[in-house]
Amino acid sequence: MSMFIDTAKIFVRSGEGGHGAISFRREKYVPLGGPDGGDGGRGADVVLKVDPSMTTLLDFKYKKKFIAEKGVNGSGSKCYGKDGETLYIKVPMGTIVRDVETNKVMADLSHPEDEYVVCRGGKGGKGNCKFCTPTRQAPNFAEPGMPSEERWISLELKLLADVGLLGFPNVGKSTLLSVVSKARPKIANYHFTTLKPNLGVVAVPGIQPFVMADIPGIIEGAAEGVGLGIDFLRHIERTRVLIHVVDISGVEGRNAIEDFIKINEELKKYNVKLWDRPQIVVANKADMLFEEEVYENFKKEINKMGYDKVFKMSAATYEGVEDVIKAAAEILSNIPVTDLEISEDERFIPEERRFTYDIHVEAGEEEGTNVYIIEGTFVDRILTAVNVNDPDSLKYFHKVLKNKGIFDELREMGIQDGDFVRLNDFEFEYLL
Ligand code: GDP
Ligand code: MG
Repeated sequence: MSMFIDTAKIFVRSGEGGHGAISFRREKYVPLGGPDGGDGGRGADVVLKVDPSMTTLLDFKYKKKFIAEKGVNGSGSKCYGKDGETLYIKVPMGTIVRDVETNKVMADLSHPEDEYVVCRGGKGGKGNCKFCTPTRQAPNFAEPGMPSEERWISLELKLLADVGLLGFPNVGKSTLLSVVSKARPKIANYHFTTLKPNLGVVAVPGIQPFVMADIPGIIEGAAEGVGLGIDFLRHIERTRVLIHVVDISGVEGRNAIEDFIKINEELKKYNVKLWDRPQIVVANKADMLFEEEVYENFKKEINKMGYDKVFKMSAATYEGVEDVIKAAAEILSNIPVTDLEISEDERFIPEERRFTYDIHVEAGEEEGTNVYIIEGTFVDRILTAVNVNDPDSLKYFHKVLKNKGIFDELREMGIQDGDFVRLNDFEFEYLL
């Protein structure tokens, strides 16, 4: 069970296309007028759309099914059926969309204007007036609408924090955040069981404001999913800079260097990309540090590991806080916002809407004859379009089979004069 309300699973279905109409004009003194069946309307798309005022996926706890309108069927007098109206589903900025069946990423909706068509509506079918040709004056068939699409999708909201605070419990992360942040975006709707990430907008004169997240729960074993760590870590995937806080005072018996190494090991196990983010290293609680040498030694060791931004700070007395914030702002100003990286095999590729069929042979009732049985979505579709009792309609039907290459295929399979071809319930004799 997930403890977060910031993931949701919903069902979406587009509208199917309206059917084309079969209709003939009625005129005085004309027994059978020309064909006038109109086209069916287009089925509606289902579109996910960012609403920057939304901060949670809480709405989807109550509403989980989203069904878009069908296209209206065509009718006589060449009346087109109405198109279905696009169904927009609003989601918060930072929503990752996945196809549940494959677990592939369909979209990353991270910008205010982002939208994504998650299910396409079916095209409307052509009415019989579109099938009128000089030799086919009264087509007694029309096209059915294209089918709808449906799927379960999962939504996952990532917090869009620019800076993430890393470090063991009680090193002073929350204190730092409360000291530097003014506005607090509403995150009350995040139902974390015991802990919740704390977001703050850091607005200090002379810098571009940024969002900082204090994310508790990064403890040993977090990367293996022990405790709450892994879920919290997902929320800082997009931070561009990490402020890694350690307690330099040692008053709680912590070793700052060991802690620093441990947290980074966890981070690396969890996500190498995140581990590669620039880290500002903050030796907090300097007001309680009575041997300057301890800090100097710490700094030296951290520098050796390749981190050159090391600061001494006290969140309690504010000493050094501004330098830390300015260093973060400085780094941020040089790194663009990172989009979620989606590898090729993680990315969802929409299935092409193809109508397929399959042919197999069985012995016929009459000795020496065979029945070629053709089945599949292609067959279902063509049979709904065709009136097999109508000669014109049958001619059209043969033409479709021919264009699809089915007769060629039957010949290659060795079909003989007198054999039968069966498509669902409809059977006809094959004649060369
Ligand atoms: P977090 O778990 O990392 O968020 O740590 P907190 O911010 O909750 O701080 C843990 C404890 O350390 C609290 O009692 C704070 O008052 C205290 N604390 C935080 N920063 C400082 C500091 O710079 N100096 C001193 N002396 N205490 C601090
Ligand atoms: Mg805290």
